[in-house]
Amino acid sequence: MDSVETARSCSQLLDRARAEGRSVGLVPTMGALHDGHRSLMARARAECDVVAVSIFVNPLQFGDPEDIEKYPRTLERDLAVCGEVGVDVVFAPTVREMYPTWPAPPATTVSVHGVSEGWEGASRPGHFDGVATVVAKLFAIAGPCRAYFGLKDFQQLAVVRAMARELVLPVEVVGCPIVREPDGLALSSRNVRLSAAERQAATVLSRALSAARAAAAAGERSGPALTAAMRTVAAGEPAVCLDYAAVVDAASLDEVATIVDPGAVRLLVAAQVGPVRLIDNSAALDGADDDPTTTAMTTTTTTTPQTADDAAAPARQLERTG
Ligand code: AMP
Repeated sequence: MDSVETARSCSQLLDRARAEGRSVGLVPTMGALHDGHRSLMARARAECDVVAVSIFVNPLQFGDPEDIEKYPRTLERDLAVCGEVGVDVVFAPTVREMYPTWPAPPATTVSVHGVSEGWEGASRPGHFDGVATVVAKLFAIAGPCRAYFGLKDFQQLAVVRAMARELVLPVEVVGCPIVREPDGLALSSRNVRLSAAERQAATVLSRALSAARAAAAAGERSGPALTAAMRTVAAGEPAVCLDYAAVVDAASLDEVATIVDPGAVRLLVAAQVGPVRLIDNSAALDGADDDPTTTAMTTTTTTTPQTADDAAAPARQLERTG
C-alpha cells in the first residue's frame, strides 16, 4: 500500500495504473474509519483493479469551529484499516496541500444549486460548497475512476452526482448502502462523541424512519402524515432536538405532498444529539431499492451484515449500482 501526501504523487500512481489498463476506484473519506467506510472500500475493491482512499478532514465544509476541532483524527488506525481491506493508495494530504492559501479560502469553489439548498444545506450554510469543492479537487487528482459514496449522506450523494454530471467529470459516482449498528443507529465518525445516554437516545433517528416506513407499508401516501409519524417518535426522546424530518423526491430532494411512487421518495431526518448533529435517511418502503437515484440494476450480495437500510430487515441482496 502506498501512502502519499501530495496530489502529484497520488495522480502519478493512479495515472500509471490506468496506463497499465487497470481501473481505479476512489473512496473519499474524512478518516476515523468505521465499518461504513469499510463497506465502501470493500465494494471498490470488488469492482476496481486499484483502490484509492482519501483521508482529509475538509475545513471548507465545516461551519462550526468546534465541530472541526473535535472531529476524530485516527490516521495510524485508518492506515491499518485500509491495509486490511486491501487498499492500494491512501491519499492523506495536509490542508495546505489541498488549499495552498489556507486559512484564506480558495479563490475557486464549486456550488451546486438546487439539490444542495434545502435540508443540510439550509441548516449548514456553505457546507455543500465545501463538499463540492473538495470532491471536485479529489476527482481532478484521481482522474477517470469510479467513486464510492455512502447513501448515509443522501443529499451529499445527490450534490456530488449533479456536480459530476454537469461538469462532465470522468467519474462514475456509485451510491452504497447505509451500514448500521445492530440497534439501527447509522455508523458515523461522530458517534464516538456521544455519551452512553446520548448514544442510546440517538437510535431515535432510525426509529423515526422505521415508523414512517411502517405507515407507508400500511398504505399511508401523505408526505405530511409520514413526517408527523417521524416527529412523534422524535418527540418521545427529549434529549434529542429534531432539526428536520421530511419526505422528499429522491432525485430533486423537494418535499413530497402525496406519494405517487413510494420507490421514488426518500425519508430524511436530522437532529442534534448532545454535542453532535446526526443525520439519517431511508427508502419509504421496506425492501425498496437502496439507491433510487441511479438507473442500472445489478444483483449483488452484501458482505457486511448490517448494510440494509433497516437493521431489522433482512440484509438486502438487491441493490443498484451507479
Ligand atoms: P465521511 O468520512 O463521514 O466524510 O464519510 C465518507 C464516506 O463514507 C461518505 O461517502 C459517507 O456517505 C460514507 N459513510 C459514512 N457513514 C456511512 C455508513 N454508516 N454507511 C455507509 N456509508 C457511510
